[in-house]
Amino acid sequence: MFAFDYVRPRSLEEAVRLRRDMADGLFLAGGMTLIPVLKQRLAMPSVLIDLAGLEELRAISAEAGRVTVGALARHASVADSPLIQTHLPALARLAGSIGDPQVRNRGTIGGALANNDPVADYPAAILGLDASIRTDRRTIGADSFFTGLFATALEPDELITHVEIPVPEAAAYAKFEQPASHYALAGVMVARAAERVRVAVTGAGPGVFRVPAMEAALARSFTPEALDGIAIPAETLNDDLHASAAYRAHLVAVLAKRAVAAALTSEPLP
Ligand SMILES: Cc1cc2nc3c(=O)[nH]c(=O)nc-3n(C[C@H](O)[C@H](O)[C@H](O)COP(=O)(O)OP(=O)(O)OC[C@H]3O[C@@H](n4cnc5c(N)ncnc54)[C@H](O)[C@@H]3O)c2cc1C
Repeated sequence: MFAFDYVRPRSLEEAVRLRRDMADGLFLAGGMTLIPVLKQRLAMPSVLIDLAGLEELRAISAEAGRVTVGALARHASVADSPLIQTHLPALARLAGSIGDPQVRNRGTIGGALANNDPVADYPAAILGLDASIRTDRRTIGADSFFTGLFATALEPDELITHVEIPVPEAAAYAKFEQPASHYALAGVMVARAAERVRVAVTGAGPGVFRVPAMEAALARSFTPEALDGIAIPAETLNDDLHASAAYRAHLVAVLAKRAVAAALTSEPLP
């Protein structure tokens, strides 16, 4: 390790001010990504601003067809939340599939979104469910938030405070995971809301992406069969020791059908 300072602000305002005043500081949430990054010296901030004291950012609430999840809500809290299990069962199941119990009890939704790992699960949920990311200064729609490999629309000193997720009519997430890390080799979130369908894919490419051809077919007929014959071009997908691009393209087609089938059999949403 290398020398750095550690501060633990007691309020959102203090956290934002500290980060603004310390140009090479970094926010620390669950540390599941950031601590390994520090150990490898891929980042060498002069100060870590630990968000752990901001209890108000752990809250989960629901009203008017919308669920709000605080940025510091841990994956285990999302998976176990009765509110999320009722209104967004697909999200609860997705959170419960992340990593292992240690990761789920430390990692946070805000940290996962800010990190935007191309194989992470939450980006598919946020893009597929058409959620909005609230920060200390603005609201960013999911379509504008994920900008590339480990890249987002966040300014360097911008803090995610909440995620707002509209409750869909039906949704499901299907994932084929790398067995050691449980990260997605491919993961597909399908969501139907007010006659519109969104399909978001993680794990397969250099970043999360939507599949317009699948969305159009499912808007006409929300059935697995509607996806027959729709292929994902393999040229743009990841090709590595875990899976070839062609295999990932096949996985996306299979997982999208599984997600639609699961969405159709989910409990009716209130
Ligand atoms: C062994 C292992 C297995 C894993 N498996 C999976 C998996 O199967 N699926 C999956 O999706 N993920 C997986 N993860 C990732 C994990 O789920 C965490 O979500 C992720 O590492 C980041 O969340 P964190 O809260 O730990 O953030 P941190 O590591 O604390 O921070 C990550 C980055 O986000 C920034 N940040 C944190 N919070 C905020 C905020 N509120 N606003 C702005 N910036 C912020 C930090 O400055 C840092 O740059 C795995 C991780 C490990 C170590």
